[in-house]
Amino acid sequence: MTERDPIADLRRIAFLLERANEATYRVRAFRSAAKALATLPVAEVAERARAGKLTELAGVGDVTARCVAESLAGEEPVYLRRLVATEGTDLDAEATALRTALRGDCHTHSDWSDGGSPIEEMALAAVELGHEYLVLTDHSPRLKVARGLTADRLRRQLDHVARLNEALPEGFRILTGIEVDILADGSLDQDEELLARLDVVVGSVHSGLNDDRAKMTRRMLTAVANPHLDILGHCTGRMVSSRPAGVRVTGPGDRGHRARTRAESDFDADAVFAACVAHDTAVEINSRPERQDPPKRLIRRALEAGCRFAINTDAHAPGQLDWQRFGCERAARCGVPADRVVNTWTADELVAWTAA
Ligand SMILES: [Zn+2]
Ligand SMILES: [Zn+2]
Repeated sequence: MTERDPIADLRRIAFLLERANEATYRVRAFRSAAKALATLPVAEVAERARAGKLTELAGVGDVTARCVAESLAGEEPVYLRRLVATEGTDLDAEATALRTALRGDCHTHSDWSDGGSPIEEMALAAVELGHEYLVLTDHSPRLKVARGLTADRLRRQLDHVARLNEALPEGFRILTGIEVDILADGSLDQDEELLARLDVVVGSVHSGLNDDRAKMTRRMLTAVANPHLDILGHCTGRMVSSRPAGVRVTGPGDRGHRARTRAESDFDADAVFAACVAHDTAVEINSRPERQDPPKRLIRRALEAGCRFAINTDAHAPGQLDWQRFGCERAARCGVPADRVVNTWTADELVAWTAA
């Protein structure tokens, strides 16, 4: 076992986060934890780590406590390992390369549910962006506020999409899909027969976001194990207020999200990501500026777990289809390689994967 200094590891993480221009509060978490531990005898730090009592100290949270425990066990903390892996890489270049590698978008809405534009407008914008496909994922029936599609309306949409595809440019197609609500018991809010017919099924939690940890974990594990689910949408449900400069989130489809923030749902992320690996369900990196979901620490954990990802816009208007670059920046900061991202595949490869 190699000797490691947990305080030095925390400081190193803070330094690398600062250099990567990460949010101040995140850097402060590591600096505060380092400071709190520095005041204690080394033996007490080890004793508290063994007893799981590090988080009782002011300034030490779950994430920093995990780093300390890993460090004391002689391992390079996972958090640090990820940062070191992306150290020195040109993030702009990495993000651009990732964006260039994307061939389509797996989460978009039209005016059939709460989007602001007809499907054909969304498709034409996707063609202009250089996409080879667009997965149309309007909402499911229970999300009434978003005019979720009943089974009948979804069947009509499928016929409509088939007709549109005949008129769209060669080499581009609209793939059929849904953003299906993950219900309280983890079941999916649409007829089984329809879910089987769709090219891509994104499943998201939109209700009961404050479910307790055990309930939310069970709910998500049930959904991830459903053979129809291909992509787990915006998994924490959080809403953050910060937005990249110049981006105003307004207009149809935003349902008053604008000035609202919402904390992350509480669930056992390691268990859910392990299930995503076991069932080959991709974890969405949602590019919407007000969502930025999952947060980077969870993207890093999903990556470490071996998950696949889908970098999606969740666009509710044509111009929002260009928001993929925000998701790519976040993915690049976490060291997500292109070969773990399902929408770098061709439409045929994607559909073969979802059908498997
Ligand atoms: Zn959603
Ligand atoms: Zn959506």
